[in-house]
Amino acid sequence: MPYKTQTGQALNFGAMERQLLAWFRRNMRPLPWRGHYSPYGVWISEIMLQQTQMERGVSFYLAWMQRFPDLASLARAQEEEVLKAWEGLGYYSRARNILKAARIIMERHHGVFPSSLEEIRALPGVGPYTAAAIASIAFEEDVACIDANVERVVSRLAALDLCVRERAGREAVAELAGAFLQRGCGRDHNQAMMELGALVCGKNPDCPACPLRDYCLAHKRNTVHLRPVLPQRQERIPISVASGVLVHNSRIYVQKRLPKDVWGGLWEFPGGGMEENEQPEATVVREFFEETGFRVQVVDKLALIRHSYTKYHITLHCFALELASASGECDFPAPPHLCEASEFRWLTLEELADYAMPSAHRKLANMLTLANGRLYTTSSGGLPKLPLA
Ligand code: SF4
Repeated sequence: MPYKTQTGQALNFGAMERQLLAWFRRNMRPLPWRGHYSPYGVWISEIMLQQTQMERGVSFYLAWMQRFPDLASLARAQEEEVLKAWEGLGYYSRARNILKAARIIMERHHGVFPSSLEEIRALPGVGPYTAAAIASIAFEEDVACIDANVERVVSRLAALDLCVRERAGREAVAELAGAFLQRGCGRDHNQAMMELGALVCGKNPDCPACPLRDYCLAHKRNTVHLRPVLPQRQERIPISVASGVLVHNSRIYVQKRLPKDVWGGLWEFPGGGMEENEQPEATVVREFFEETGFRVQVVDKLALIRHSYTKYHITLHCFALELASASGECDFPAPPHLCEASEFRWLTLEELADYAMPSAHRKLANMLTLANGRLYTTSSGGLPKLPLA
């Protein structure tokens, strides 16, 4: 019985499913979690692939599985180790939730990954999409997954004329996605839809290569580029920030962000937002004093790093710093007065590599190098090599 869209158009989902699954069998990528579909592997892959490109996700997944091959090894890990393994993927609450969930599974589910949609959904960091993905791909439940790929594909198949970020549009997408999924096909259907959205029905769809082109209403009506209907894109807010690398006795000062903060638990070079009419050199000196009690002075400008996050476009002015009143021979200064951090360390450059940092700070850390007992920045973005202190 063909499915009727809201505008009365018929969609033969049964025939479409056969085409889709046949295409998937011929075109599926050999991803490392495919094949035996362990719940642990499917879960980790799904969390990692949120906001992450496939190629990058695969390399992180492989490294993760080397380090934490199963739930038990993950549940035993320290948060610091987990954050380090996650470094570069961003959205670090995902890593903290993975660790919490692994411990819950070990304690409450006796080490066995829960199989019902409700129990999976109850795990920290698991939303409706991830729960549906695990239930269907790992446990073969017939529940439709709706991610951005699926949203795009079904919107085009039905030529949906509703904004998919608004309630009516979300409900219509959910109804279409559920109606398309045929009984007993949950695992392959969901993967096939996501694969089709990623490989064929993307931003610039390749309709001639699509197994569903004969059924697709947007294709028939020549409205493919108008679907899905999305809200107007919001501009990212620009923010200017200054941070400093304080070096003393060939060691670098870093501090750990408070758990409640964005990037909580990650290590950083202190700094902060520039006030109106403030020069970045003044910002870094002021911020350092406010955050640590250290009086510092700028030795050199190191780099200008631009980095975009979901809502913000950050320009990070980076400086080499030294203590304002210390000779190079003296011991380390008194401990800092931390007010925006939970811990501090004086690290060698080699040790810095083992500490998880937000992306922009990691970029800066990766530019630093040590030669003849002195620190330099590597020439990155056309910057000259500069002695630090
Ligand atoms: S025909 Fe084109 S727009 Fe329609 S589902 Fe296929 S790739 Fe997407």
